Amino acid sequence: MSKKNEQVLPNVTNIKSTETYTLPSKGLVYNPEDKIPASITLRRMTTKEDKIRMRNESDNLIRKQILQACIMDKDVDAGKLKIMDANFLLFRLRSLSLLDDIYKVVCRCRSCGTEFIHEVELSKVPIEYMSESKLKNFKVELPICGAKIDFKYPSLNDIIRMSEDLNAYMEQFPNADLNEVMYTSSSVLYIDKINGDRPMLEQLEDWMDGLDILDSRALADVIRNVDNLYGFSTKLKTKCPKCSSEITHGLPITSELFNPSK
Ligand SMILES: [Zn+2]
Repeated sequence: MSKKNEQVLPNVTNIKSTETYTLPSKGLVYNPEDKIPASITLRRMTTKEDKIRMRNESDNLIRKQILQACIMDKDVDAGKLKIMDANFLLFRLRSLSLLDDIYKVVCRCRSCGTEFIHEVELSKVPIEYMSESKLKNFKVELPICGAKIDFKYPSLNDIIRMSEDLNAYMEQFPNADLNEVMYTSSSVLYIDKINGDRPMLEQLEDWMDGLDILDSRALADVIRNVDNLYGFSTKLKTKCPKCSSEITHGLPITSELFNPSK
């Protein structure tokens, strides 16, 4: 801690108490009733928010509560933020609050298996922004059944609800295979409408299970593609210190987010 203070103190007069950030989605992926604007103003974290981290709750719920506390616009419901925007804001909140731009990511070399830490400069990580033309990738007609699918992005609330449902399911069926259960439950979060209708979650899971395998794979392909359309770059590059192989990675959220190690 003391080392940290020494590092931070010289700039103490230049600290910004709030800052406004343009969301990677630019607000384009929301319905009007979500009331999420194109940019959001955050304030620095206080002890109160640092204490939220200690709560005995799921990681996503804790992240939502910290964001909610630090978002200045009280009309914004942090739970409605799409995951990419929420993650972006969490990293910006970290830089704003801790004045620490270095984020340590543990990497593992695929060629030689060496594990090492890549120190990423957060302010230099490229950001992909959403645009009207990219939104055209948001529809697909499935090749076998011909169903027309409209996509949406999962929100923080969607992810929190999904993990609660999964936990409940795994408690009820402790021998169920988590990967198998996840296969459908994570995909359905991306489906907004089928042939113009918005189905119930339970209907969706049954519909997914009955999909022809080629339709199912076509759906998975689109989801993989729309996932990288905005947000922090998932193609950060570094080199293995042992064999110099190139390694590409994204920005996983770990305990380094609000508790950087020295
Ligand atoms: Zn290597």
